[in-house]
Amino acid sequence: MRVSQFPLTTLKEIPAEAEIVSHQLMLRAGLIRRLASGLYTWLPLGLRVLRKVEHVVREEMDAAGALEIMMPCVQPAELWQESARWEKYGPELLRFKDRHQREFCFGPTHEEVITDIARRELRSYKQLPLNFYQIQTKFRDEIRPRFGVMRSREFIMKDAYSFHVDEASLDETYRRMHETYTRIFTRLGLDFRAVAADTGSIGGDASHEFHVLADAGEDAIAFADAGDYAANVELAEATPGITERPQPSEALRLVDTPNAKTIQALVEQFELPIERTIKTLIVRASVEAGSGLIALILRGDHQLNAIKAEKLPEVASPLQFADEAEIRAAIGAGPGSLGPIGLPIPFIVDRSAAVISDFGAGANIDGQHHFGVNWNRDVSLGPVADLRNVVEGDYSPDGKGRLRIVRGIEVGHIFKLGRTYSERLNATVLDEQGQPAVLSMGCYGIGVSRIVGAAIEQNHDARGIVWPIPIAPFQVAIAPINLHKSQRLRDAVDTLYQTLREAGFEVLLDDRDVRPGVMFADLELIGIPHRIVLSERGLDAGEAEYKGRQDAESRQVPLGALVEFLR
Ligand code: ATP
Ligand code: MG
Ligand code: MG
Ligand code: MG
Repeated sequence: MRVSQFPLTTLKEIPAEAEIVSHQLMLRAGLIRRLASGLYTWLPLGLRVLRKVEHVVREEMDAAGALEIMMPCVQPAELWQESARWEKYGPELLRFKDRHQREFCFGPTHEEVITDIARRELRSYKQLPLNFYQIQTKFRDEIRPRFGVMRSREFIMKDAYSFHVDEASLDETYRRMHETYTRIFTRLGLDFRAVAADTGSIGGDASHEFHVLADAGEDAIAFADAGDYAANVELAEATPGITERPQPSEALRLVDTPNAKTIQALVEQFELPIERTIKTLIVRASVEAGSGLIALILRGDHQLNAIKAEKLPEVASPLQFADEAEIRAAIGAGPGSLGPIGLPIPFIVDRSAAVISDFGAGANIDGQHHFGVNWNRDVSLGPVADLRNVVEGDYSPDGKGRLRIVRGIEVGHIFKLGRTYSERLNATVLDEQGQPAVLSMGCYGIGVSRIVGAAIEQNHDARGIVWPIPIAPFQVAIAPINLHKSQRLRDAVDTLYQTLREAGFEVLLDDRDVRPGVMFADLELIGIPHRIVLSERGLDAGEAEYKGRQDAESRQVPLGALVEFLR
């Protein structure tokens, strides 16, 4: 592509509307333009990137055996009433009426539509499993559209929906999608983590999110520095900083439990200090040889936040207690009271060992290593965490390593939906016995347009975007010096342009009559990975000047060796 036919619309100034760097760079590089709040036009350069992301997603979905379809963006209210989401979804759902006063919405997601397809089209278990996907425009009337395409109102999602007669088949497809997502984000050149996620309001059994790691991320995710543990910390909104440690609430009740032996064993196994976080209560304990108990007991969201603000590992002096009576006194708990979430909070005191606590939400410490952690309402599902209150440095629930907490941008989300939608919409097929069986479902989303922003958030420097090669709008830029003064140079540039294109590169030829400084700044801003400078002097020497987008220095490469060099 020649810049004369592919106008670059770069901006020098940082647009005031953009808070984060990816949004600023997308505007400055001329990838997108804002139409209205949360609505963006993709300009030619940006669209090339978006299409590349789509291409990788499509290839991997196809390779995983998913079948592409295209559903309407506009959906009738009746379907949403059947699933009971017309009431539930809230103001994010854009609703409107047609000329006959029939109600519709602009699809924020397509569970209802696809389940309707399934109940009409699928007859027999023999047709299953099936996995349908589309890459399509969604609309969500986000309360706070921001960060450009990362949280827009209209955006492109790849959404897939799988159908099964039994759980084993759903498990298999879910696992496959997990792998497929891993391949997709790896191919896109992103630094990402898959984390266990809350199944939230959609319901269902299991769920993982894929997060691009970046400080601008709106989610916090926790993962172990050893082992495989990773989960989303639903830090919905930043909690107002509470810096003072509040008075202990009266809401605690001390109960002796028979777990002292278990705890003793655990203390020995993991070597003190133990740090554990549970939903509303942190216990940190350590034993000094022969000196009994040192424990820090914190509880209640406020107190926890206070500690978070201070960064728990740096809390200088844990409270020290000589015995249970002192602890009682310190926390001011009266017998019979309930914990902050309305459940009795027992904790035990073993003078020779430690203080560990749990509360009765199913995550107790009886001989299991998820001890002391409310990793889930139902522990048997594995470490799908309710991590609202974890802090950096906590042990991971599997005991392998400590948790790191970093910011993430949610770019993908997979769900085992189970029968939630198929039951409500009565989607069945005949099973092996000829009996109607309610379909089991999975759903799998990828934020295709969000990925473009996320990729920039992770790959940029002071001069602009640094595209990962697989999604760069062009891989190579040719920047000729004083092109308009030399026919010889024009011929050489044309030849090189042709040669590189024939070798399979996407090439941007900067044939503008502008100063090299302007040209270089633009090419760096838009993030083209390879830059080749051709000049009269270079031609005399039979060389081109090459600079990779992140190289500190340029170097000379013989013209004849360029193609090989770039490969
Ligand atoms: P978020 O937590 O960021 O609001 P979500 O959990 O509501 O996202 P899903 O329903 O899981 O989103 O949709 C699948 C994917 O669609 C998300 O993982 C995300 O990448 C993308 N996505 C969701 N909302 C937006 C948005 N407003 N703008 C751009 N992409 C979005
Ligand atoms: Mg959302
Ligand atoms: Mg989310
Ligand atoms: Mg999600």
